[in-house]
Amino acid sequence: MSLQKNGYLCQMGTALDSGIKGYNGYGIHLRDKYHGQRVFKVIVDGGFTCPNRDGSKGYGGCTYCNVDSFTPEPSRSTPNIKEQLRAGMERAKNGYRADKFIVYFQPNTNTYAPVHYLKMMYDEALSVNNEDVVGFAVGTRPDCIDAEKIALLESYADRYDVDLEMGMESIYDETLEKINRGCSHGEFIKAVELLKDSKLDLCVHTIFGFPWETREMMKGYIHEINRFTQIKFVKFHHLHIVEGSIMGAKYKKNPFKLFTLEEYTDLLCELIPLLRPDIVIQRLFGISDWELLIAPNWGLNKSAIQSYIDKEIERRGVVQGSAYNG
Ligand code: SF4
Repeated sequence: MSLQKNGYLCQMGTALDSGIKGYNGYGIHLRDKYHGQRVFKVIVDGGFTCPNRDGSKGYGGCTYCNVDSFTPEPSRSTPNIKEQLRAGMERAKNGYRADKFIVYFQPNTNTYAPVHYLKMMYDEALSVNNEDVVGFAVGTRPDCIDAEKIALLESYADRYDVDLEMGMESIYDETLEKINRGCSHGEFIKAVELLKDSKLDLCVHTIFGFPWETREMMKGYIHEINRFTQIKFVKFHHLHIVEGSIMGAKYKKNPFKLFTLEEYTDLLCELIPLLRPDIVIQRLFGISDWELLIAPNWGLNKSAIQSYIDKEIERRGVVQGSAYNG
């Protein structure tokens, strides 16, 4: 299982659970790292916002985004972060025999606040079930990271594996403007450079399939990621359109071309060989609640999509890094 519809949990690592060896998947990475223990991410909503939502850089957020589409309902409806975590861990233990946890501040921009406030929030979350928490993951954007915030996150790195997840989304400023990102690719590079020699594990999130970007342009994302040795993880996402987003409203009026599962898999089979071989792929595609998804609806649940992609990778003999010439 991965992201639970109306649940709290992301179990790590569908990617290599199937035994596929064509790419470095998060499942095997975690199993190796934590000696076979079952590690689950438990999502916590700290009640943050984003600078392109609250007016400091814009309104409305990124045009493809509806935060609810990737925030489990119980986290949305439970303001107390300790309660969110206790309930999420309990559910993971009872339902999925979880051994250990990664506390995951996911919705919105989880470094978008003064450092003293961030510390208070992080400390509170990490005080829950301390002995079973092995990791701490924080999702953010490049313009909300600075040396002081990195130092705060690094202060947890002697007790936990700390994963800083940063949205790159696209490397093209024209795209970033069109999607109301409020942040340029230059700002992404600046943030990544701040993380050189950091104790944090940097994970970069990308979106493939903006209709005005060509396949060659998307291949450019991989070459850009490869340049930075501090990038340890990637999360790949196909563009999907969700209810409650600006893009969703536009799509309903004027639908545009989105990936079919076959097309997206074909793209992945071209991108994975280009990717630096040491990078671990946390995710190959995105998923949202059925009731929020407008398109593309591939008619399959998450494990079926994963299985389709994995089989195709295996059938084609795709090997991560085989076309990397860094
Ligand atoms: S994609 Fe991230 S930065 Fe953009 S509006 Fe959504 S939560 Fe905020």
